[in-house]
Amino acid sequence: MLKQRDKPKLVILGCGWGSVALLKNLNPDNYHITVVSPSNYFLYTPLLPSATVGTLELRSLVEPIRRITSKVKGHFLKANAEEVDFSAKLVEVSQTLPTGEERRFYLPYDKLVIGVGSKTRTHGVEGLEYVEFLKNVTDARKIRSKVIECFERACLPSTTDEERRKLLSFVICGGGPTGVEFAAELFDMLNEDLTLMYPKILRNEVSVHVVQSRSHILNTYDEALSRYAEERFARDQVDVLTNARVSKIEKDKVIFTQKDGGDGKIVTKELPFGMCLWSTGVAQTDFAERIAGQLELQRNKHALETDSHLRLLGTPLGDVYAIGDCSTVQNNIASHITEFLKQIAWEKGANPETLALDFGMWRNVATRVRKRFPQATDHLRRLDRLFEEYDVDKSGTLDFQELKELLGQIDSKLTSLPATAQRAHQQGQYLARKFNKLAQAAPGLAMNNVTDGDVDEAVYKGFEYKHFGSLAYIGNAAVFDLNGMSIGGGLIFVYLWRSVYFAQSVSIRTRMLLAMDWGKRALFGRDLMNF
Ligand SMILES: Cc1cc2nc3c(=O)[nH]c(=O)nc-3n(C[C@H](O)[C@H](O)[C@H](O)COP(=O)(O)OP(=O)(O)OC[C@H]3O[C@@H](n4cnc5c(N)ncnc54)[C@H](O)[C@@H]3O)c2cc1C
Repeated sequence: MLKQRDKPKLVILGCGWGSVALLKNLNPDNYHITVVSPSNYFLYTPLLPSATVGTLELRSLVEPIRRITSKVKGHFLKANAEEVDFSAKLVEVSQTLPTGEERRFYLPYDKLVIGVGSKTRTHGVEGLEYVEFLKNVTDARKIRSKVIECFERACLPSTTDEERRKLLSFVICGGGPTGVEFAAELFDMLNEDLTLMYPKILRNEVSVHVVQSRSHILNTYDEALSRYAEERFARDQVDVLTNARVSKIEKDKVIFTQKDGGDGKIVTKELPFGMCLWSTGVAQTDFAERIAGQLELQRNKHALETDSHLRLLGTPLGDVYAIGDCSTVQNNIASHITEFLKQIAWEKGANPETLALDFGMWRNVATRVRKRFPQATDHLRRLDRLFEEYDVDKSGTLDFQELKELLGQIDSKLTSLPATAQRAHQQGQYLARKFNKLAQAAPGLAMNNVTDGDVDEAVYKGFEYKHFGSLAYIGNAAVFDLNGMSIGGGLIFVYLWRSVYFAQSVSIRTRMLLAMDWGKRALFGRDLMNF
């Protein structure tokens, strides 16, 4: 076994879903691991909306990262990655002292994994300093405090009727899973605890509005499920405003335009608020943006582009990887056409560009495409049909142009991977398996003096995302979109939803805390206090 100082240095930036899955699956004997992150805990984000109204405690959703790094004999640095020097293999890291003074230092790496997540997308809307975001523990704590503050102020005798209406209006901009789940949690709290804790507030004085730019909420889910969620919200008097685009936020109101049902005219409307949540998709962090700006091959404005082996495009092969929300896999299959044809052309002694592929050769190319781009596997099932369809001149072979069009058509069917915990987790697991294999292969490669070439490709297949479905809590009901099977319903589904997250939760400690929180809420209601 290698001594710690002789192991390759693996630096992991971030301790979210992707990084933790990587850490949990790495062989502790293979790498000298250092994790850098401004937060020293892993946050179980799917249950974060429950913490905004006190259904769950924040401590039940976090796991100390040091508990995880210690299992792989790793180190943790509570700091921010600022820059990367890819040729010197150094990460520039900053730490801010309590005095506000910033100190910087360099961290060397042999392999670097970037898993810095994302920030909330602003869509260039003005006035976002007046809204709340829901990305981390601090955000959830702020929302909880603000919601309670609104109720407390609404009860004061000095509060005017107009102020009271405003304070008791909660607006959620964004009808995706986070916005919908927050609305659902708020709705539960209003029904279950409000009248008991705030007898001076009438339930029908409180309003919850979801402003959604698309024609349905939960629009990435099956249509039947988003309709079910809308019907449920309509019944629960959660006001869903679809086809509504926020144009500006002012101190106490949201200004938006909405297509009017009848004649489709665009009308400008306003909603006053006591608390407004902004949850409208994800954008690159400042760090990821700086990295992308350094590299010529990075052309995507929303995420760091990797190849199918999750290697950051534009960096030396096998040095830098990116996973999770901060990354996107570039599946430009057609641009690799010469690479796929090279081997066959070499065997036939022909030029790849003038080669005519018979069906056997096409099958050979398809096998290579599947290995390099596993995400394309589903689109390469009926090879005979594809061959027939793209053999336009009916010559019984595919020429370069015909093959290019065939691969281009597969490219157009590949959608970008979702920014979800599920994807980040799978990418972390994938990298761990590959890194374990690379470590196993390293002594053999060193013995044979193999120092360059595509080692990743040689030891492991490309990354393939498998979608296992999506869930969402919609207020005493839950919806499940499970790969074509969509189901939703009341209490049974809520317990099912809870048990999925309970089972997935990171440790026995967090599972116990979750069970205690749910029990505590059932017995005593939510803790509606702000400190
Ligand atoms: C409220 C909410 C609910 C969600 N619900 C679901 C759900 O139900 N199902 C689902 O699949 N997904 C859900 N998601 C999405 C899911 O949380 C993300 O897709 C997932 O967290 C992405 O994982 P990641 O590893 O890429 O980044 P993250 O988990 O976001 O972790 C990023 C890490 O990078 C660190 N970091 C940031 N900047 C730097 C830097 N400069 N240097 C070093 N470290 C840095 C951060 O501190 C953090 O530790 C939800 C997200 C939110 C916010």
